[in-house]
Amino acid sequence: MLVSKLRVADVVPTIGWTAKVSRTVFGQSRRLVVKVGSSSLTHPAGGLDHDKVVAVAECIAAATQTGRQVVLVSSGAIAGALAKLELKARPRDLATQQAAASVGQGALMRIYTEVFESHGLVVGQVLLTAEDVVRRSHYRNAQRTLYRLMELGVVPVVNENDTVATDEIRLGDNDRLAALVAHLVHAEALVLLSDVPGLYDSHPRGSDAALIADVYGADDISDLSLSGSGPLGSGGIKTKVTAAHIAAGAGIPVLLTDAARANQALMGADIGTMFHPTGKRVPTRLLWLAHAADPVGGLHLDSGAVEAIVSRKKSLLPAGISRVSGDFHRGDPVDLLDENGRTVARGLVNFDSSELPDLLGRSTEELARELGSAYRREIVHRDDLVVLLPK
Ligand code: GLU
Repeated sequence: MLVSKLRVADVVPTIGWTAKVSRTVFGQSRRLVVKVGSSSLTHPAGGLDHDKVVAVAECIAAATQTGRQVVLVSSGAIAGALAKLELKARPRDLATQQAAASVGQGALMRIYTEVFESHGLVVGQVLLTAEDVVRRSHYRNAQRTLYRLMELGVVPVVNENDTVATDEIRLGDNDRLAALVAHLVHAEALVLLSDVPGLYDSHPRGSDAALIADVYGADDISDLSLSGSGPLGSGGIKTKVTAAHIAAGAGIPVLLTDAARANQALMGADIGTMFHPTGKRVPTRLLWLAHAADPVGGLHLDSGAVEAIVSRKKSLLPAGISRVSGDFHRGDPVDLLDENGRTVARGLVNFDSSELPDLLGRSTEELARELGSAYRREIVHRDDLVVLLPK
């Protein structure tokens, strides 16, 4: 996983409260997203494990047949191609990852299609890139497709479009993708299936490690060290916890458990680690902006502007910006930084970076008088801005 992505993942929106929810929500929710990781679908050395894929598919098919709408976010494209391509380990270079995903995605879908078909169900492949979904027009498009598939009774099978995604535009892990998709489709619950029964208070291989059954907010687990990722997928426990915070912060309860317990999870059994909702639903474009957008530049603010943005919920005006970094175009996502270089917010900017130096430090009134009324507009409008605070 890229370091730049970790920076994005390290920030979570302000959390104000926690709603305690019973695990029955995972057994009763009418619409839910289930994410399954590469290690739960492949052999340890790589290559799709047919039986494992079938087991997951059977479980989702059973839930679908009870009238529930399930969106499956499935990894396994890259890891699934290793054996076919005679690769010994998950490739590190982008071109081979893209090629592997191209081979593995089709093989993965073939198994899903067969299993669901044997239950009289149809699957639809939905491949998303972060870029596809960060812009309002694009994620609306993805949302419409997912809704239509569900209306048609089709089970959407989502993955990141790794064949065309480049490091700059990829999310890189399906955990966050699943959290964002859960929000996009207004899911009532998110289940993250991996190869561990849940979140432990120390390394699960340690004999005295204890399962953490409930997480009521990021503070509950801020002391845990969450490093490391598995050999096959790109996410480790850290990306799962980040994804869980994203979903829980937007009002969606999350269950983290292992794929072997998928059936129990979808029946609402008392297993795994549950992340209780810590916030309410937020506008989709702001969630994407906070967690999917890779900022292409920065606006450095004076302390007055930081206060206006963070505490007074104002738009960003040119008077409060002291410096601009990076090359960007109108509509791009940019970071808003305080005087210490900390990211305090992220927003969609209303000007190209080349236009900004002449505007900085000046009032919109003055600019409108001198350059025309188009220059009265905010640099970042409040509606296109999300405040991010360090964990
Ligand atoms: N999209 C990747 C794949 O299908 C997996 C990403 C992840 O491991 O989270 O291979």
